[in-house]
Amino acid sequence: MSKLLIENGTVITLGERSRVLPTHDVLCASGGITRIAPHGEIAAAGARVVSATGKLVMPGFINAHTHLYSSFARGLGKAQPSASFREVLEQLWWRLDRQLDLEDCRYSALVALIEAVRHGTTTLIDHHASPHAARGSLDAIADAVKQVGVRASLCYEVSDRDGAAATREGIKENAAFLKRCASGPDPHLRAMFGLHASFTLSDATLERAATTGDEAGAGFHVHVAEAASDEEASVREHGVRVVERLDRLGILGPQTIAAHCVHVNEREMELLAETGTAVAHNPQSNLNNAVGVADVPGMLRRGILVGLGTDAMTTDMLEELRSALWVRHLAERNPSAAFVETASLVTQGSVAIANRQWGGMLGELAEGKAADLILVDYDPPTPLDESTFLGHLVFGISQATVDSTIVAGRVLMERGKLCLGLDEAEVMAKARERAKALWERF
Ligand SMILES: [Zn+2]
Repeated sequence: MSKLLIENGTVITLGERSRVLPTHDVLCASGGITRIAPHGEIAAAGARVVSATGKLVMPGFINAHTHLYSSFARGLGKAQPSASFREVLEQLWWRLDRQLDLEDCRYSALVALIEAVRHGTTTLIDHHASPHAARGSLDAIADAVKQVGVRASLCYEVSDRDGAAATREGIKENAAFLKRCASGPDPHLRAMFGLHASFTLSDATLERAATTGDEAGAGFHVHVAEAASDEEASVREHGVRVVERLDRLGILGPQTIAAHCVHVNEREMELLAETGTAVAHNPQSNLNNAVGVADVPGMLRRGILVGLGTDAMTTDMLEELRSALWVRHLAERNPSAAFVETASLVTQGSVAIANRQWGGMLGELAEGKAADLILVDYDPPTPLDESTFLGHLVFGISQATVDSTIVAGRVLMERGKLCLGLDEAEVMAKARERAKALWERF
């Protein structure tokens, strides 16, 4: 693979000892970062040069929980107004996911992934549902991931809500994709075992999922206590709270991601901490669905690894981060509550979650790490150094334009222009056509 030299930028390394390095160059080769040095010190004959003059160079963002399939919901006005979270699922999402075919899966993923590149999101952990087109759906999404060039961890959300045949197909789809990823390792793709949520899963299904997932050495990706009704159903039908139930059935562990955890109690937080289970916080979705606010500081205090996801509300991780901060301040009636802890969900939490799957190579600009980086058009109007970076991230960089996006040393966008080898206008036109047809079936 050819060399890439990113010249004369302000390099934000992130990582454990995050540094701000003005006028530095970054050399990438074979998908990784091979050197970072003051401008002009690296001799890289024959390298493709990307100028970062007047720009920040920083690691690409990581989305710890999303749903690529939801792209076609944008503007869909046919669902009745929902009075509860359950109704949001029944009247919108479950009606939509039942209509998806494999081409819809591919195009909705392409749309969301192109938008991710535009916003500097380079790795996404996805949770997919298409109960009438489960078989092959993860391959269809993986094709889109490969075409766009980002990294993604994929899973299929097993649920009993569409009957026994759909449950079986969902388990098979996870098993098949886990096998594909194990047999032909690809730096862009990872697999998890997906589960919808406790309230649509029987003990028997969870037991089968646990066995299949364990045999493949997979972690599970599951919605946990998103609404209070998930906890109420678990206590009513199984006599235990959600996290306790998932723990008894072998779903928790250091490879597992529990999305939301809005309604977990202290005992459940202890179980998440004891088992090393990671949590994906999705504040915009929680606000939109009016389900509550997760106690992120409480989870962090107990040593739980918490990252930030968007639950498909956006592909812009900094928009999500700002929401996480504002809702934290409001929830605690404290305008200073948990600023560093919340900002670190993006710079550290989501990174650590993804690194459990990518072997520690993501989220830091350093020699030997993956060449997943973005250039941001940002000329700081106030001093920018290690001590002020998070303030710039939240109030300035979030408002700036991502100029270029690079994944594994491949330039996916340069100076705002996509270089994906696919026609963006054609993808959007095809997506509109497919969405229109889906809306007619809805
Ligand atoms: Zn979700």
